[in-house]
Amino acid sequence: MQILLLFGPDLIKTNPGLAIGLVVLLAVAIQTGLALVGSARRLAHQRRQLSRERERLDYLVRAAKSQWHNAELEKASWNGWRKFRVHKKVSECEDVCSIYLQPHDGKPIPGFQPGQYLTFGLDIPGRDRQLVRCYSLSESSLKQEYYRVSIKKERAPRDKPGIPAGTASTFFNDVVREGDILNAKAPTGHFYMDTAKEAPVVLMGAGVGITPVLAMANHIADSGSKREAWFFFVCRNGQEYMLRQDVDRLRKFDNIRVFVCFSKPAEAEVKDRDYDREGRLNVQLLKEVLPSSTYDYFMCGSGPFMKDMYDGLIEWGVPDGRIHFEAFGPASVKRVTEAKAAAPAATAAAPVGGKVTFAKSNRSCAWDGTAANLYELAKANGVRIDYGCGAGSCGSCLVAVKSGDVAYKDPPGFAVEAGSCLTCVGCPKGDVVLDA
Ligand SMILES: Cc1cc2nc3c(=O)[nH]c(=O)nc-3n(C[C@H](O)[C@H](O)[C@H](O)COP(=O)(O)OP(=O)(O)OC[C@H]3O[C@@H](n4cnc5c(N)ncnc54)[C@H](O)[C@@H]3O)c2cc1C
Repeated sequence: MQILLLFGPDLIKTNPGLAIGLVVLLAVAIQTGLALVGSARRLAHQRRQLSRERERLDYLVRAAKSQWHNAELEKASWNGWRKFRVHKKVSECEDVCSIYLQPHDGKPIPGFQPGQYLTFGLDIPGRDRQLVRCYSLSESSLKQEYYRVSIKKERAPRDKPGIPAGTASTFFNDVVREGDILNAKAPTGHFYMDTAKEAPVVLMGAGVGITPVLAMANHIADSGSKREAWFFFVCRNGQEYMLRQDVDRLRKFDNIRVFVCFSKPAEAEVKDRDYDREGRLNVQLLKEVLPSSTYDYFMCGSGPFMKDMYDGLIEWGVPDGRIHFEAFGPASVKRVTEAKAAAPAATAAAPVGGKVTFAKSNRSCAWDGTAANLYELAKANGVRIDYGCGAGSCGSCLVAVKSGDVAYKDPPGFAVEAGSCLTCVGCPKGDVVLDA
């Protein structure tokens, strides 16, 4: 075109044939160019479609594999106690150890949903009865050869001299050795991340509450999923930074962003080398770093931590159903939906005055307000019921109700099946007969 504009009028006069030839050539060139651009666009579009299709297929294959894996491994599940050998014991940081368990019978072990836990029945020397405690699985469920739990030794309260340190956690940290045999029930729990979904997630752990959310992040990493994940962990400083190797490994994955907060870094600790943020993990930090609030949130930590996070997320406009949490002790978070839905009668403390009968043990006692719950009442009257979390989360203390009704002051961590009750958080509504 430029050539024609430059030489156009003269060229037409002096050599019209050449001018026409040039115009034709130019038209062909433009047409070819346009055709080329069109095909390049089509090609790019097809490539994008192909890549989307490949991602969709990858996802379907992963989901099918995960379903198959779960179904296959479900067959390897068991009822009651099963013996596990401590294959490896690793010190993670001060007061925290990881225990790697392999089945003593050498048979396969079932997979689990990341976030679930194992229930241990511990025969601790000097105790007259088995101690039941729950510990979250901290590894990805795709490691089929072993289970890993990571346990923090519960120190005695500083302001209460004479009180012993936590029994089970001290036993695991100070007494258990490689080669020891432990009794465990099959993985269970209602706090888990659905691995068949691809919805972006925010995973938050405070202190030892890192264990279930780390299992979730590890699952995303190990499965090759491209699911967007934000992983937040808060502890005091490097001395309390447990499972650091796992957390560092997560940083290598493009789809996983990691933020480690030290609430009180030691003098020698350096930001961006030892930790990412100084201060607490709170909703303010999430607002700063997350592109939006549209995520599924999973969190585990101390009562106050979870209450702060939950309240903050609700205030930020996150729907209640997208916030998932687990307490390692008594429940501290009351969901807004529960507060709205709960009729006053369902949550009110059960009135004093009924009679509780423990049918198997052939004992009856008055519900006179001295015991905090049915488990405490049973214990005070010599009736043995299994006990785990004391928070209505683990299901260890589940007992069948033969007649009568049981109420919960704080809602249990999961829907209790009809005809049963969780004694560690339940109180009788009038006369009750329990199968214990
Ligand atoms: C679903 C679930 C998952 C869990 N996952 C993990 C996990 O991954 N890692 C982990 O470390 N923990 C986890 N826990 C917590 C764990 O189950 C135990 O509760 C924890 O290890 C403490 O048990 P313990 O027997 O050592 O302490 P306990 O003996 O039950 O004592 C608890 C605390 O009470 C204090 N105490 C003892 N006697 C008294 C008294 N008379 N008065 C006042 N205080 C007293 C102790 O010093 C201690 O600090 C989980 C809990 C649940 C429910």
